[in-house]
Amino acid sequence: MLIAGNWKMNTDVSSAVELARNIVERLDEHEGVDVAVCPPAVNLADVARAIDGYIYLGAQNMHFEERGAFTGEVSAEMLTAVGCRYVILGHSERRQYFGETDESVNLKVRRALQNELIPIICVGEHLGERQSGTAHNVVARQLNRGLEDIDVSDGRQLVVAYEPVWAIGTGHTATPEQAQEMHADIRTILAEHFGADVAGAIHILYGGSMNPENADELVGQADVDGGLIGGASLKAASFISIIETATSVVG
Ligand code: PEP
Repeated sequence: MLIAGNWKMNTDVSSAVELARNIVERLDEHEGVDVAVCPPAVNLADVARAIDGYIYLGAQNMHFEERGAFTGEVSAEMLTAVGCRYVILGHSERRQYFGETDESVNLKVRRALQNELIPIICVGEHLGERQSGTAHNVVARQLNRGLEDIDVSDGRQLVVAYEPVWAIGTGHTATPEQAQEMHADIRTILAEHFGADVAGAIHILYGGSMNPENADELVGQADVDGGLIGGASLKAASFISIIETATSVVG
């Protein structure tokens, strides 16, 4: 199980460090649950010091090129150097507002793996796509293209996050049945790429308005291996409560 907090563009140095400290100070035993926080890029170094290896660090994005004239961008190597283990790639907000495509996501996934960063590959349909019955096709396309030319031996280094766009930041969570159905499909696609054993070991996270009240039912589903948490990760108490729920589901 993996619980990762996506802080988006919400913290400055002092609030990021305070949140990170609050989480590590108040977090109890969480055996079987990996925990990661993904602060804004400019807060990574300070948060790395604050968490001191007690939980994992992740970034919210990176460029697919190794280095060079890409003003404003951050490379995979820079992220590992600052202590990141994870990087969120292809978040729907990046796809929607910054023109990310399945192809650029794929290039980023490949670069992340080369640099021993674990990509958290985000997929998910828009509301209209769910209503018109094409949600599963959309997610399959995003995932298949995102995974192009990924070596079978790298399969275990992946995390996938199913994040229905209509559930992100809206308070409308997918039902546990909707989540389980999509996660099972994702597992099948992963098995086609990497074989059943590897697919079984890949964490498939649910993301979209997960909170302390609904986490139990969601992470209780057979193919839901944790959560990517936005809003509820910005308060130590609600983030920890979700981690506790995941710990009790695993235990
Ligand atoms: C997210 O953006 O990854 C997310 C899941 O956000 P929220 O929990 O706020 O819906």
